[in-house]
Amino acid sequence: MFESMSITSQGRAFQCPSCKEKIDTSRRRCPFCSAIIDAGAAEAAADAMVKVNQASEEAGYVKVAAGVALASFLCGMFFVFISMGVPLALLAVVGMAIRWRVKYGGIQTDDLDFHSAKRTVTAAGITASLLLLGGLILVAAILATSR
Ligand SMILES: [Zn+2]
Repeated sequence: MFESMSITSQGRAFQCPSCKEKIDTSRRRCPFCSAIIDAGAAEAAADAMVKVNQASEEAGYVKVAAGVALASFLCGMFFVFISMGVPLALLAVVGMAIRWRVKYGGIQTDDLDFHSAKRTVTAAGITASLLLLGGLILVAAILATSR
């Protein structure tokens, strides 16, 4: 009995039911409020405390995992958004090149700047068309092989 009362005795921590101070399960009397401690209740309280500590520790893991998942999700959405913007930008280039040719293509001039501009527009239009076509073929190929 005296051994269990000593300070050096080892037990698990739990909260005193009357004063809520952290005490040892090996104690039969609370050193803070002198309340008599029931051994069974002390062990049960210590078990509950371990569970509470585990719960908050594992909640921390869930929080980290959720943060990683959310960051990945946002990165994924960002890339989807960007890759959806690519065909739209290519389409815009093709449209602008066609519009330019309709509007200015018939101009007859020896102006070197005009001919340089015409080559630029033609090259941009052809490049964008080829990239769009290539992208369509790629998407079609991916869809065909995923079946
Ligand atoms: Zn107490």
